[in-house]
Amino acid sequence: MVVGDISTGTEVLVIGAGPGGYVAAIRAAQRDLDVTLVEKDAYGGVCLNRGCIPSKALITGADVAHEAGNAEEMGIHADPAVDMSQMVNWKDDVVDTLTGGVEKLCKANGVNLIEGEARFKDDGSVRVAHGGEGQGSESIDFQHCIVATGSRPIQIPNFEFADDPVWSSTDALDTDTVPDRLLVVGAGYIGMELSTTFAKLGADVTVVEMLDDVLPGYEDDVSRVVKKRAQSLGIDFEFGEAASDWREEGDGIVVTTETEDGEESSYDADKVLVAVGRSPLTDTLDIENAGLDLTDDGFVEVDDRMRTSVDGIYAVGDVADRGPMLAHVGSKQGIVAAEHIAGEPVAYDAQAVPAAVFTDPEIGTVGMTQAEAEEEGFETVVGQMPFNASGRALTTGHTDGFVRIVAEEQSGFVLGAQIVGPEASELVAEVSLAIEMGATLEDVASTIHTHPTLSEAVMEAAENAQGQAIHTLNR
Ligand SMILES: Cc1cc2nc3c(=O)[nH]c(=O)nc-3n(C[C@H](O)[C@H](O)[C@H](O)COP(=O)(O)OP(=O)(O)OC[C@H]3O[C@@H](n4cnc5c(N)ncnc54)[C@H](O)[C@@H]3O)c2cc1C
Repeated sequence: MVVGDISTGTEVLVIGAGPGGYVAAIRAAQRDLDVTLVEKDAYGGVCLNRGCIPSKALITGADVAHEAGNAEEMGIHADPAVDMSQMVNWKDDVVDTLTGGVEKLCKANGVNLIEGEARFKDDGSVRVAHGGEGQGSESIDFQHCIVATGSRPIQIPNFEFADDPVWSSTDALDTDTVPDRLLVVGAGYIGMELSTTFAKLGADVTVVEMLDDVLPGYEDDVSRVVKKRAQSLGIDFEFGEAASDWREEGDGIVVTTETEDGEESSYDADKVLVAVGRSPLTDTLDIENAGLDLTDDGFVEVDDRMRTSVDGIYAVGDVADRGPMLAHVGSKQGIVAAEHIAGEPVAYDAQAVPAAVFTDPEIGTVGMTQAEAEEEGFETVVGQMPFNASGRALTTGHTDGFVRIVAEEQSGFVLGAQIVGPEASELVAEVSLAIEMGATLEDVASTIHTHPTLSEAVMEAAENAQGQAIHTLNR
């Protein structure tokens, strides 16, 4: 039964409380706007509940177990037993702490929180269904709206997430048992992070990828380091094959794949994890009632102020066509949208957007590669520092990989970095700041870095680009 429709109004309506939406809501409230945030599921969105945070918690758990069991060289002899359901409980506690924090922060900033699913009635109002029998619905008129509804995992034909042996990334992050044999479809960043995690937890992992390498979009010498390490963890790769079907057989399943030429192969497994990308959540919003323009792939078209084609309506995060689909991108875009609504002169600048892959070792990139910079017309200079020449890397036992820094030759302006190695996700922040501040190689190289730290490798790469490196041979 639907209880009558009440009607309210707000200056800024935010739909979706992921890192795009809740950050936008808080910033708008900080600007003294009257803000209402509608969330149909859980505060924190995919990032906190089913993405960044739970995956990084399990990656850490798997690392601890793997490191402890593989430290004979350091004189540590251990054979750790993994209690997966305890690990998942711990992960859930981390998630609860953070999602509870988001709710409290929103309230403390004066954001009006509404639980329910919003659908556009027209370009100035939504109906929010509160869910559950007899919960009713309400209409909300808005002056401005920020759509931050995020994304969902892409399903491929014959692999329904509702079928038990077929896992989405969400299922993989909630499992209380480690499958003996895991087949992973897709060697993008989510597929690679989760295959590494399950391999470290003891699963026999095979990755099937349609393309001919792991981590499309990353340079060969970067992805090669990750692939080699994954192979040393026992992960098998099958390239040029697309998963086509699966069937139950014996105690497990058989997954069949097909090459472009129609050649079939089959793999025994217990679970199959499909991680082939994510698609924007625009089809459950009645978006046509508001008249927003979408791309062919269903993303909301936005400009660099995050404005859509309809006056007063903005879109941020995974749902907007200004990727990459990453949490910090959504948050930054949320801030831009909120500040623009508040009348401030802001724009989203994608020049220094870092990205990290939490594989073993990690990847951290920002700005342009050398090839991209040259395509843009820059004359470039590049400096590199391998981690096997870093004192700190040697003391951690993790020496695979390198820091590469790309700069404009004449001015020395830093244009980008590609880091693969220990803590690359943290190290890349220094180069992001350098790009954001218009720093030069000289600025990075002459900044005193603490010894012994991994960050010295960033300084050394900048020195190397200038022909001034002390601990590596110069170009
Ligand atoms: C396994 C995995 C690992 C990841 N790891 C990383 C990482 O390490 N780093 C990184 O930067 N990114 C990572 N991501 C991506 C990251 O999670 C997303 O980029 C980010 O969550 C997008 O934020 P968002 O606010 O746009 O949308 P979401 O986080 O998807 O939030 C959207 C919210 O909107 C709500 N919603 C949708 N429709 C409605 C409606 N009609 N009414 C009300 N509410 C609605 C949803 O319930 C959801 O809570 C990962 C993703 C996955 C799946």
